[in-house]
Amino acid sequence: MARYTGAVCKLCRREGQKLFLKGERCYTDKCGVARRSYAPGQHGQDRKKTSEYGLQLRAKQKARRFYGVLEGQFRNYFAAAEAKPGMTGENLLRLLEQRFDNVVYRLGFASSHAQARQLVLHGHFTINGHKTDIPSYSLKVGDVVAFKETSRSNEIIKSIVDANGSRPVPKWLDSDKTAFQGKVVSLPNREEIDLSVEEHLIVELYSK
Ligand code: SF4
Repeated sequence: MARYTGAVCKLCRREGQKLFLKGERCYTDKCGVARRSYAPGQHGQDRKKTSEYGLQLRAKQKARRFYGVLEGQFRNYFAAAEAKPGMTGENLLRLLEQRFDNVVYRLGFASSHAQARQLVLHGHFTINGHKTDIPSYSLKVGDVVAFKETSRSNEIIKSIVDANGSRPVPKWLDSDKTAFQGKVVSLPNREEIDLSVEEHLIVELYSK
């Protein structure tokens, strides 16, 4: 399935919550969810009873859309999560959090996952001093993510870092915005992942 290129606010409205897909606009009263808190489309305001399958599907779509991951990739993450010891749902979210583009977003080096993905693809970052341009690269504890030396003087990059300077950084990451770099200090536990999703529904969906 191809990457979704349509209106992203519709995705948030479908899930009934902010997924922060549009950067700065998400924090203003122009946010699509704030303005129209019902599902998009002709029947968006109809009262509907959601089936068990519907709830499971919505949970999966919410997580997939938040991290900007395609269906096939998401299934691969689920398989990897299942193979790990511990709770599959929590493992799944942790693996998604470890993605390079997500860490860039969480560190406040991009205003959305889509922007983080683009900055990574355009080769603006290094991991442990080596240029890396793979958004799905899985980071480990101790890895240092930094803007490339030449990117630090780029006015657009500077304005992105400034604009996201006040966004809270999760405890499992250490962000040094003045040095244009950040570090993975631990892997996140469930409480440190601020995505409101019932991950057990995703596990139930894929376990059918
Ligand atoms: Fe979602 Fe952001 Fe659009 Fe609000 S502005 S609906 S959070 S993408």
